[in-house]
Amino acid sequence: MSIVADTLLTFLPPKRKTTPSGWTSFNAPCCHHNGHSADTRQRGGLISNGDGGISYHCFNCGFKASWQPGRNVSKGMRTLMRWINVPDDMINKISLQVMQENEGIEVQQRLIEIPSFHEVPLPDDAVLIEGVEYVTKHLAQVVEYMRDRNLYLEDYPFYWSPSLGYRDRLIVPFYYEGKIVGWTARTVQADKQPKYLSEQQPGYVFNLDEQRPQKIFVIVCEGPIDAIHIDGVALMGSEIKDQQALLINRLNREVIVVPDRDPAGSKLVERAIELGWSVSLPKWDEGIKDISDAVKKYGKLYALHSIVGAVESSPLKIRLGAKKWFG
Ligand SMILES: [Zn+2]
Repeated sequence: MSIVADTLLTFLPPKRKTTPSGWTSFNAPCCHHNGHSADTRQRGGLISNGDGGISYHCFNCGFKASWQPGRNVSKGMRTLMRWINVPDDMINKISLQVMQENEGIEVQQRLIEIPSFHEVPLPDDAVLIEGVEYVTKHLAQVVEYMRDRNLYLEDYPFYWSPSLGYRDRLIVPFYYEGKIVGWTARTVQADKQPKYLSEQQPGYVFNLDEQRPQKIFVIVCEGPIDAIHIDGVALMGSEIKDQQALLINRLNREVIVVPDRDPAGSKLVERAIELGWSVSLPKWDEGIKDISDAVKKYGKLYALHSIVGAVESSPLKIRLGAKKWFG
């Protein structure tokens, strides 16, 4: 029973009867408000429709009012309530409660859209670098690139493919619940385009699998390499899609966003504030524009330390800090 149906049935005139077709009949409270003489023949009818909805129909003056789950309490229904002497403050409370419940349902429906990701193959002949026995010229370049970027084989299951088009790229598989659901292949040549070849599904958040339950916070960054460096997750860009926010919030811990130091990163900060997340704008030297730069310059441990030490959760303080940080 809904609160609306419950209220109506509680305040109806006590003299009533129920018909076999499910109507509850009573002297209609509406008629004399609508220019008719007062009803004395029990021509007001109320019927509930199973799912908590309820309809009122007057077979004398024709007045109707109804309510369905998911709808707000209509003006007509409020009027009917007043006519059967439901106190005004109770009518207001019921209307408000119904409205809040409806909003709650909408929020839940939005939340239920947890994205699902299907398994995808890696580029042809891709192999785990750790397991490769013969180092070719191209693989040597990839390994050299990794060394230069402080990336180690034990940090992540990095892949490489000897096939043309991929052999000078570092392949980073995207995992979700243990399955490979995408990947990016970054060129290790300084001037080669495109820099990244990728396969990515909408709403994906990189490295969620690695967010162990005992961690008390999750660091959210833009790129996967940044995320690998500090065991965080990556948005794969500077936007936070609703589905990504949902996946990150589901971890149920403090969320710390570390933006890249560029105009897109500045927008990311505003979005983080909107989501109620914390932001870290670490005290890095000029010229350091993301976590990878910081790791390269200071090492992993200090980079992580600088991030955790600069966490701010007050929107005002975040915005003040952002003014300086983004310059
Ligand atoms: Zn009536």
